Amino acid sequence: MVINENLTTPILGEYDAVVVGAGPAGCGAALALGRAGMKTLLIEKFNCLGGAWTTGFMNPFFDFYQKTGIVQELIKELQSAGQFGGFWNMSFNYEYMKFILEKKMQEANVEVLYNTTFSRALTEGNRVYGVVAENIEGRFAVLAKTVFDCTGDGNVAASAGCPFELGEDGDYKECQAMTLMFLVGNVPEKYRDGLMIYEKLNAVYEKAGKQIPFKVPYLIPAPNSHFAVIQFTHMYEYNPLSAKDLTKATMEGRQQLIDAFEFLTKYDEEFKDLELITSSSVLGVRESRRIIGEYRVSTDDILSGARFDDAVAYVTFGADLHTKSNKGQNCFQVKPYHLPMRALIPKGYKGIIVAGRCISGSREAMASYRVTGNCAQMGESAGYYVAEAIKKGVDIHDVKLNLHLADE
Ligand SMILES: Cc1cc2nc3c(=O)[nH]c(=O)nc-3n(C[C@H](O)[C@H](O)[C@H](O)COP(=O)(O)OP(=O)(O)OC[C@H]3O[C@@H](n4cnc5c(N)ncnc54)[C@H](O)[C@@H]3O)c2cc1C
Repeated sequence: MVINENLTTPILGEYDAVVVGAGPAGCGAALALGRAGMKTLLIEKFNCLGGAWTTGFMNPFFDFYQKTGIVQELIKELQSAGQFGGFWNMSFNYEYMKFILEKKMQEANVEVLYNTTFSRALTEGNRVYGVVAENIEGRFAVLAKTVFDCTGDGNVAASAGCPFELGEDGDYKECQAMTLMFLVGNVPEKYRDGLMIYEKLNAVYEKAGKQIPFKVPYLIPAPNSHFAVIQFTHMYEYNPLSAKDLTKATMEGRQQLIDAFEFLTKYDEEFKDLELITSSSVLGVRESRRIIGEYRVSTDDILSGARFDDAVAYVTFGADLHTKSNKGQNCFQVKPYHLPMRALIPKGYKGIIVAGRCISGSREAMASYRVTGNCAQMGESAGYYVAEAIKKGVDIHDVKLNLHLADE
């Protein structure tokens, strides 16, 4: 059955760019657009900036070495606030990350709307000209010369009808595992630099007579604190595009984290005083839509160190696939490579750019460029490309930028 709602939708405004999703990619894009003088709106469904960096309780900050631009600025500001370091000398305090991003967004004159959920793309044929979103004021539309899909899941592009890949040849069961991160306090002094926690967890699981769900778990402390997140729960074979499956996976994750916490405090003398603080309010989804772009980053590209004239990111992080077959991680090194702007342009579509983990690439390539330093940098570079196209009144394909991405 279909209900014809017959709704009227007020137009909130017209922008040069609307960025949907304030994760690393969305923050990078919005900052670049704002700094380039573009009238920019950033829409985010939660009440802070950072996406997985903050609402996802994610650490450490991978693939920041050598990078220029916003990534380097963030590291420097976190460092000078004394809020960077900790685990592997690349972890940060979540609240400071939110605060620093907000400050930068205000300085760049980006209009930010929190608690605002994108609901659908506005399209005319294959051209995207705005989005419909909802918040406390109800449903509204915003019009934009370019819409940035930085939702991680490619929600805007999918709503516009852009084709995408999922899992292995469409089989979502092959997608990487999902994880519900959780925060603990009172971490023993000797583990405040972090710990690969497999042996401990395996021992307590054995004592409890239960099977461990993941074999490469980490205790990841925030800098200068007795708090840490535990990257442990692993949920396999759920469909990242099904609301029901995401709910089931979250509930399974909660059972796993309660088990882990109870077994650790009960059976491990060193962790008997550990405190359970909370789980992240968003389920960690490593892999979902990969929008089909004008260029698809291949596994060969990441192994051979591909270079492109339209480079938007310099990637050094190895591929890291959390696979169900070994309940662990399949990792391999890459030769530092570029991502091209064309991988961020949905094939056959205008007025829309994707940035973040949902760009066009093979599963193995995505397993490398998905980490946050790369998402932030590709978002930032794409912001500069679009700003240049708008300023010059030309098509994005006619923009030539020679961005300095890394000190190689
Ligand atoms: C469990 C886990 C652990 C990880 N560990 C690390 C790590 O240690 N280091 C690292 O660098 N990377 C890590 N990653 C990878 C990294 O976190 C992600 O790949 C990266 O954050 C993707 O960035 P993004 O900007 O594309 O998406 P996200 O960070 O997911 O941001 C998307 C944003 O869009 C918003 N959004 C989504 N839909 C809507 C909507 N309809 N309306 C409005 N807003 C919306 C979301 O709320 C979010 O703020 C990890 C990922 C997971 C899942």
